[in-house]
Amino acid sequence: MISERIKRMTPSATIELEGTVAELEAQGVHVIGLNAGEPDFATPDNIQAACERAIAAGKTKYISVTGIAELKKAICDKLLRDNNVAYDPARIVVSTGAKQALGNAVMAICNPGDEVIIPSPCWVSYVEMVKLADGVPVIVPTDPETFQLDIAAIEKAVTPKTRAVMINTPNNPTGAVYTRESLQRLGELAIKHDFYIISDEVYEKLIYEGEHVCVASLSKEIYERTIVVNGFSKAFAMTGWRIGYSASPRDVARAMASLQGHTTSNSTTFVQWAAVEALTGGEDTIVAMRKEFDERRKYLLQRLRAMKGVTCPEAKGAFYLLPDVSFYYGKKADGAVIKDSFDFCKYLLDDARLAVVPGAAFEAPKTIRIAYSNSLANITEGMDRMEKALAKLH
Ligand code: PMP
Ligand code: GLU
Repeated sequence: MISERIKRMTPSATIELEGTVAELEAQGVHVIGLNAGEPDFATPDNIQAACERAIAAGKTKYISVTGIAELKKAICDKLLRDNNVAYDPARIVVSTGAKQALGNAVMAICNPGDEVIIPSPCWVSYVEMVKLADGVPVIVPTDPETFQLDIAAIEKAVTPKTRAVMINTPNNPTGAVYTRESLQRLGELAIKHDFYIISDEVYEKLIYEGEHVCVASLSKEIYERTIVVNGFSKAFAMTGWRIGYSASPRDVARAMASLQGHTTSNSTTFVQWAAVEALTGGEDTIVAMRKEFDERRKYLLQRLRAMKGVTCPEAKGAFYLLPDVSFYYGKKADGAVIKDSFDFCKYLLDDARLAVVPGAAFEAPKTIRIAYSNSLANITEGMDRMEKALAKLH
């Protein structure tokens, strides 16, 4: 018998689709995968070499649950250097991916029935993490044109049970980069109504227009209510290494460490040494990756906007676009009606062998999410396939 808690969960659409694509590929079907939010670049050589050195030096044992001192120091230095916010190592918890840090954060602060406001469209896992902690996800749409935070709507959604607002800037799936002013206003709300801000900043380094603002840097009072989460997967092409971290108020950091101490313990020891190299070894590879992502972003946007019935807001960060394809809902492919974003994506996968993620998984049912963390050649082929598939819908 499976627990009610798990039965209430919806499996991750991004992770599941990745499995489907892998199965098709194993059967010899060539799929263009613009689904996974994963850089197609290799982890930089200097980081790989640091990992090899760490293994050779025997850094293969259990360590402190919250991470090695060298990494926590490098993280504090990074937060000060890049984000203008001072932390001491006692507030840092290194985790097995930013995903675990986010899950820990929600578990650390939610009592059953507590509400967590999630601006939408939002990443697939936020809603499920809140449900897993017996909390109540409260979805509040962002501005439909710009995907910026709607602060008035967030304030309207606040109740005495609100424990946190969970934000992600730059955003997956919209690509929005939240403005300093909107983060300032969100911070003031957090002070006024005494809730936390969980600030997921994993796409921080992938901004093509505008600046990244860490909400914790905006005032001392906001800092004391913010849990900053960041990682290595996106900036350093380290998705499979599974390492991320949080910087929190002291009691929250202690609670997260306690939870992690009973679930997964420390994140992989030698990977932590590689992460030290990532944070201290310079950003040349990030600059090169960002330049390529930007070219792909512009190309993909122009291709989507040229397609009949498709509208697509510009994205200034991360590596996703979120076109509205609802013009095609109600149309038929070989006699079968495409009702929603799931049918639409299934059609693209079956007919065009193109994998993209249904917007419904991100609380944006009129859309699909296309990741441009793939080569320009694959994006070109993917868009050619999509164009042909759309022309068949009537
Ligand atoms: N937050 C967002 C918004 C993401 O898209 C992802 C994707 N992986 C994560 C967190 C988790 O990252 P990690 O690989 O560090 O667990
Ligand atoms: N975050 C990426 C995505 O949204 C990777 C998959 C996942 O962890 O959800 O596609």
